[in-house]
Amino acid sequence: MLKLKARWIFPVGSTPIQDGVVCVDDDRIVEIRRGRAGQGVRDLGNVAILPGWVNAHTHLELSGINAPLGYPGIPLVEWIRLVVDRRRAESHDAAWAVRRGLDECEIAGAAAVGDIVQPSPDLHETPIAVTGFLELIGPTEARTAEALQTAAAYAGAGQGRGGRRFGLSPHAPYSVRPGLVEGACRLSREYHVPVAFHLAESREEIQLLRDSSGPFRRLLERLDAWDPASQPACRRPLDFLRMLAEADRALVIHGNYLDEEEIAFLAERRERMSVVYCPRTHAWFQHDPYHLEPMLAAGVNVALGTDSRASSPDLNLLEEMRHVARCHPNVPPEKIIEMGTLSGAKALGIEQEFGTLEPGKSARLAIVDLPDCRIDDPYELLLGNRSAD
Ligand SMILES: [Zn+2]
Repeated sequence: MLKLKARWIFPVGSTPIQDGVVCVDDDRIVEIRRGRAGQGVRDLGNVAILPGWVNAHTHLELSGINAPLGYPGIPLVEWIRLVVDRRRAESHDAAWAVRRGLDECEIAGAAAVGDIVQPSPDLHETPIAVTGFLELIGPTEARTAEALQTAAAYAGAGQGRGGRRFGLSPHAPYSVRPGLVEGACRLSREYHVPVAFHLAESREEIQLLRDSSGPFRRLLERLDAWDPASQPACRRPLDFLRMLAEADRALVIHGNYLDEEEIAFLAERRERMSVVYCPRTHAWFQHDPYHLEPMLAAGVNVALGTDSRASSPDLNLLEEMRHVARCHPNVPPEKIIEMGTLSGAKALGIEQEFGTLEPGKSARLAIVDLPDCRIDDPYELLLGNRSAD
């Protein structure tokens, strides 16, 4: 049995333990206790031990990108064009990028990730529990039918395969017809796989839904993918939330512009519906301030994601938590850590296995070096000084 001693242990869901010991056997947690450095105890020194992070949203195939694309405040439509160009570039090697991304997540302390994947993804060996959400694009009737066929084959193949989990991701309101969301939710129920959908990400998307105008309409027309018949069915994010409520489990990615009614809708269904906030990506696009406090007050399950390296400087979820601590000083630090661990596990439906340090759960731990200083508050040591900037 491995016994690891740390300056602080954060079990999540209970108070941090100073000078604690985590006992691990065969990749499972056996015990967490206050401890003495003694026989068989490996003292890791000035570190914190936590359950491994759950990065609920990323696109690992873009992990070959070294810095976010564009410039701070770039309009989403302009940024999408840069991503498309990057994907089409000869130098783009998705398999290599996924490998690089997984390695980066592993080093950063992730235990699980929700990754958006392309058909026939490269199934790399990794200790990280990957939920691979198949990306589905279908702005026209013909492409919708095709995407649903691929989705059914993918979700069906995922049945009974250990290790890797499967999910479906109709992309976003501007790139799918509502029928594709409905179809994916049907498959989600049939095969018990989660659905992830980018929703209420930008003002331009809200404008497209509301009155079929703006930069997204121009983009779709340019791509010959504008279909007026598809629009009236969904006039606001709530119309999509109603569809997603029919899925076995749904993750609303971003939700930057959800209104009060939509937040209440998600709160009521928090057992099966979650929001994934991607803090540094939100900052890169300079969106309106995120409604984190109202969401948490209403009871929404808010998980965290790094999103891809095309909009985030790295894939380190702890840095997302530190960013939240700086930008939302009224959110209790224990809640921030819960968002990066247990809430993510709940969003992906893997909370029996991940998200807290408890006997029987996975021993994929996050081990974080703490600063050499006399601060007694473990949260300040971990997340940094909240009044720093
Ligand atoms: Zn995304």
